[in-house]
Amino acid sequence: MECTYCEWRCKLGEESFGVCRMYHAVGGKVVERFPDRWSYTSSRMEALPFYHAWPGARTLTIGTRGCNFNCRYCSNAYVALADPAAGADDGTHIHAMTPEELVAMALKLDCRNIVFNVNEPTVSIPGLLRLREEATRAGLPMGCLTNAYGTEESTEALAGIFDFLNVGLKGFTSSFYGEYIGVRDVGPILRNLRTLARRRHVEVTTPVIQGVNDGDLDDMADYLAGIDPEIPWHVFRLLPEYEMKDHAYPSIDAISRKLEAARKKLRYVYFHNFVGSEWVNTVCPECGMEVVERLSLGCGGDKLEGFHCTGNRCPRCGRAIRMCGEYAPTADRATAACAAESEATA
Ligand code: SF4
Repeated sequence: MECTYCEWRCKLGEESFGVCRMYHAVGGKVVERFPDRWSYTSSRMEALPFYHAWPGARTLTIGTRGCNFNCRYCSNAYVALADPAAGADDGTHIHAMTPEELVAMALKLDCRNIVFNVNEPTVSIPGLLRLREEATRAGLPMGCLTNAYGTEESTEALAGIFDFLNVGLKGFTSSFYGEYIGVRDVGPILRNLRTLARRRHVEVTTPVIQGVNDGDLDDMADYLAGIDPEIPWHVFRLLPEYEMKDHAYPSIDAISRKLEAARKKLRYVYFHNFVGSEWVNTVCPECGMEVVERLSLGCGGDKLEGFHCTGNRCPRCGRAIRMCGEYAPTADRATAACAAESEATA
């Protein structure tokens, strides 16, 4: 039978698993092959990155296995492309955990929300629906990183599960998606991005590969501005892995020059994944005050350095700064506690 979780629309049987290998058909229904198996750790929101959702908060980051994309530069290939049927001892730290146990772990580690960020949430929607119920009972918001290749139906499901989403807009043409990502059509991604931005808080991340997709940055900025000029846009200096390890790293100066034009169209444009980036602070679009300061740690993610808004408004001119949730700094001790818990459960 057809799986309608994403635009691959794979034909599944009991022993036919589709592109992501996470679902099969049993008794006339598409069901998860590995329900309630999760990896988890804790992280800062800014490291994911979310710059405009729960600033400073510690989050329980979770994942499963499998992906519906095959990005040639994937830095998570060891998880996303790992055999989902493998055991917990293959380096991906997958644990059998009920939704109740995951939520209890988030609360124990002083996390303010739960973010699915390791692989693609579309491959684990039924489990995420169950987790959402439990998280709601505990008052924990949920977020995710998604490639937005779902069907319209599953995009609505994602909008129901997640309060905030970071959508990966990896390129702007079907030829780019065909050559580097392994899917034929950028159309569904653009459609879903628009749907999600209408329903929920959305930030967008574009990994830039010089000479490959940097020529599309201007068109992407136009597209995003046409949806909502307040969408935060993270342009990520991609240091390719997996099949593109030998590709040159993008020039910081050249990409920065290209992004100056985007700043005139979008209120919040960021350029990161290199140490010392000056593009990681939030500037009030009205008066120019730096209202949120961050530190770019390169591949280690980014860190909140100062939050100066009052009630999510610029303290100088009072303009509203796009923000989902409130400033919620959490002590770093949670990181060590989480690592210890994760090891103990492994
Ligand atoms: S979610 Fe997985 S099985 Fe379903 S259509 Fe997409 S790739 Fe195929």
